[in-house]
Amino acid sequence: MSTAIAEMKTQAQPAGTYKPKGMLIGGKWVESASGARIIIENPGKRTAVAEVPRAGEADVNAAVEAAEKAFPAWKNVVPRERGKILLKIAEVLEARSEEMARTIALETGNALRTQARGEAKLAADIFRYFGGLGSELKGETVPLGEHVLSYTRREPIGIVGAIIPWNAPVMLGALKIAPALCAGNVLVMKAAEDAPMAVLLMADICQEFLPPGVLNVLTGYGQECGGPLANHPKIRKLSFTGSTEVGKVIMRAAAERIVPVSLELGGKSPSIVYPDADEDWAVDGIINAMRFTRQSQSCTAGSRMFLHEDIFDSFLRKLEKKTTALKIGDPLDEASDIGTIINNKQYTKVCKYVQDGLDRSDAKLVFGGLPPKTGPLSEGYFTMPTVFADRSNDWRLAREEIFGPVLVAIRWSDEAEAIRMANDSHYGLAAYVWTHDIGKGLRAAHAIESGWVQVNQGGGQTPGMSYGGYKQSGLGREFSLEGMLDSFTQRKSVTVNLAV
Ligand code: ADP
Repeated sequence: MSTAIAEMKTQAQPAGTYKPKGMLIGGKWVESASGARIIIENPGKRTAVAEVPRAGEADVNAAVEAAEKAFPAWKNVVPRERGKILLKIAEVLEARSEEMARTIALETGNALRTQARGEAKLAADIFRYFGGLGSELKGETVPLGEHVLSYTRREPIGIVGAIIPWNAPVMLGALKIAPALCAGNVLVMKAAEDAPMAVLLMADICQEFLPPGVLNVLTGYGQECGGPLANHPKIRKLSFTGSTEVGKVIMRAAAERIVPVSLELGGKSPSIVYPDADEDWAVDGIINAMRFTRQSQSCTAGSRMFLHEDIFDSFLRKLEKKTTALKIGDPLDEASDIGTIINNKQYTKVCKYVQDGLDRSDAKLVFGGLPPKTGPLSEGYFTMPTVFADRSNDWRLAREEIFGPVLVAIRWSDEAEAIRMANDSHYGLAAYVWTHDIGKGLRAAHAIESGWVQVNQGGGQTPGMSYGGYKQSGLGREFSLEGMLDSFTQRKSVTVNLAV
């Protein structure tokens, strides 16, 4: 890289954000073997702000080798001592959370005040949660008789290959690193090509406390770097968060070598609003569940809203008033509630869905629409929260994951029909039910085919809850103690004949 480019990049990167030093392999910051780099864009201004290495197969091999060297010593560190290291990391993550939040906002386009700060704090919380769980890697004794001692051990699996997306990169990265390392595994993690900077900051903080090679973080593209990682013969476990489409590719790679795989994939999550919930708290909850303030770039976004016919128009009026009052603007501006879509590809995709809705004669645009073509919002990938009202659950906008702020409102009158429509999807990640009648709410929660149903709230995940998908939304759970045990340990039985 020439000095001129380096200076230009330095000037372009706003104060208080993290400057990448390379990728982390074996405790060292390195460039890719090929020397190639990826330019990182600020989606709020469509400008280049930094460069990171563009890893390929040779870099994957080097990272796996470093992890392999680190594994024997790391798996023998007393689990509570491993936990203590995670707790120290949590302290520094907390102390540097503003730098982390600004970096997240810069590269993802997620608004600093409403999104990025919360994500940075959550990452520290995730390390803290798993840091306390070292002693919980317990086995059992099995009563096979007076002269037999049979017990189980929770052993680490080995080298874990993790691949994460860009939408909440630090939270999702923390959710791989903390449980995998607490359980005694070593990790090679690939950051998303669009948002690697904050993940590199997290790696930088981790490597101050971890032995070299225990955590390796690569920056690279999906097929070029994620492909060789998923297919590497020495990777003993694959943990992937991203689209269902790529999840299938990862599962095929896992099948070739019979390695366990955890998949956190897409969603098209339903929200069922009962007639007694035509109130402000439910409207606020719907806005939250739809993640409008994260441009709805969330797998748990409640993007299909089943509204009872008696409150259909009145609820939509309230939703319009509250949603259109949210301020869309520069993600790094404290005043912004809503930031930008991550990149041009996703922006174009979201706009196409909006155009499809506008072109459909029987779908009514309630509010929103295509983004402005002029003015400050045209300088970044800003989109408008958009709601279409339609009778059908069958059209493209109600079936496909848009990963943008497009919500469809569908009328219902019969509860069984609402639940049937809610379940009529190949996804099953999250769901939301809104009613004062808790009996009704819980009956619906039990009938919905989703890994996580929230009643009367639309919040995000909290460490400790087992979170993951039904159907094509995923496999395995990683957010909890049980998730750590299931996803990052393997159980060994030892049976001893005491009669000799
Ligand atoms: P998103 O819609 O969030 O971009 P993707 O599933 O495309 O979801 O990407 C999630 C992660 O998977 C990213 O880190 C991306 O680079 C990686 N990825 C994409 N394609 C592949 C692939 N063929 N093999 C391995 N990793 C991939």
